[in-house]
Amino acid sequence: MKPQSTKLVRYRLILTTVTLLMGLFFHLQGISAFWGPFFLFYFFIFLLYGNTIAFALLMRLKKVKNLSFLIYTQTTADALIITGIIYITGGGESGFTPLYILAILESGVMLERKGGLMAATVCSIYYGLLLNLQHFWVIPSLSARLPYHGNVLIYTFLFYLLAFYMAGYLTGYLAEEVRKRGKELIQTKEDYDRLEAFNRDVIQSMMSGLLTINPKDQITFLNKAGEAILGAKAAVYKNRLIKDLFPALKENFREGLRSRMETTAEKPDGEQIKLGLSISPLKDHRGNKVGQIIIFQDLTLIKDMEESMRKSEMMATIGQLAAGIAHEIRNPLASISGAIQLLKEEEEGGESSDRLMEIVLAESGRLNRLITDFLLYAQPPKLNKKKVDIAGLVDSTLEVFSRSPQWTQGTKLAKIMGPNITIAADPQQLEQVLWNLFINAVDAMEGKGLLEIRAHKDDEGKIVTLEVSDTGKGIPPKDIKKIFDPFFTTKDGGSGLGLSIVHKIVEIHGGTLAVESRHNRGTTFTVTLPVA
Ligand code: ADP
Repeated sequence: MKPQSTKLVRYRLILTTVTLLMGLFFHLQGISAFWGPFFLFYFFIFLLYGNTIAFALLMRLKKVKNLSFLIYTQTTADALIITGIIYITGGGESGFTPLYILAILESGVMLERKGGLMAATVCSIYYGLLLNLQHFWVIPSLSARLPYHGNVLIYTFLFYLLAFYMAGYLTGYLAEEVRKRGKELIQTKEDYDRLEAFNRDVIQSMMSGLLTINPKDQITFLNKAGEAILGAKAAVYKNRLIKDLFPALKENFREGLRSRMETTAEKPDGEQIKLGLSISPLKDHRGNKVGQIIIFQDLTLIKDMEESMRKSEMMATIGQLAAGIAHEIRNPLASISGAIQLLKEEEEGGESSDRLMEIVLAESGRLNRLITDFLLYAQPPKLNKKKVDIAGLVDSTLEVFSRSPQWTQGTKLAKIMGPNITIAADPQQLEQVLWNLFINAVDAMEGKGLLEIRAHKDDEGKIVTLEVSDTGKGIPPKDIKKIFDPFFTTKDGGSGLGLSIVHKIVEIHGGTLAVESRHNRGTTFTVTLPVA
């Protein structure tokens, strides 16, 4: 049931009860000179109650299909009952005539102006009829003082007519206004809700963290991005002091600094993060300051990238410098080893000088290899791409390698080559890749084991995979991340540049390099290269 009709039922009940009490009072006081039989009065009151209860029940059951019809019927019934009450309480002289307002109000409230005016008309007709019928003795008058003078009746009738229409119009008008205001209110509330939801969505969808603090520096709100950056739900931070969250920030938040600042914060898991933040005053709709808004971003990644950029720039400079020095060393080194070689051949020295010369030759050879590797790593030659048949390249490299001093007898060889594996690459650089991987494999197997080379093209024919496997000692897990770092070596006399060079060559070819190793079971290096 609508609140409007509930109120109406209540109001009808009150009014009917007041009427009943008044009647009872008159009854008990014995003021009966103008009255018809009392039981009729109570009967009409009973009908009024019945009408009200019937209305309440119908509204509650929500069975009403045609509200206007129900109200019109009820109003007509009400007006009829009230006319009955008026008749037995003295007709034109009855003090109960204003009871018609009961019928008018109901119709006006429920059906607005149209209903109010209709009810006023019905009441006027009934009342007019009653007065006339009594005046002309069509029905017996219960009042002792009748017949009245016709003018008095007209005056009474017109007076009530005006009252009925005024009541009908006003109730209808007010009911209409209430409905309009209600609608406007609902609309305003909907607009407000929508705006609030919009603001909430904007704040929650922001990529930056946003938090607010109250004048006591306590955190009052934290958005979703903020939760993600700080690594905990808003509830964890709620009411905590901002100083606890950003201990490194010494500023006084109450001053509402607007400038951009950087600070560090600690996540609940202990991770330190770098933040960039700006603060601005938080004002309510009246413009009063109610706290501060802090907008922040996670700078950890940017700062780390800046750091690694700085490092790689530094490394590049150092690399250039080192490459320059390496070049400079190579020439005198060649002269030294050449000179020693000559000395060795010409001079007939003692045994010890022979041994010393051997050492000089071996060490200068090692130094030369180191410098060659280093230069290859620091300044790889330009890519000179050609059509390369991978199977052919593997064959020719193996041919040379198996005759080189690096090869150990006892090592077995296996090849599994897919058909027609031709790619666009720099053959010399690919040879270098194979060579370095072969050396490492043979070194790891220490004289016995199987060196296996596999190559195949993917189904789409776009990528070639080249695998070099050995059955050697494997790479310990603690080293696996470091093996591609320049100068990382576990070998006596190793340069630690072999894999760095492989990595670099594969990279400039647009390929990838991966490693898989198991302790004492062997290692597989997988190189992928684009066909074109
Ligand atoms: P170097 O061979 O001069 O040491 P590399 O860069 O070629 O330099 O290799 C780095 C290190 O990686 C080696 O010292 C070795 O410990 C490890 N490593 C590389 N390949 C293998 C392999 N096939 N099996 C076991 N360890 C390997």
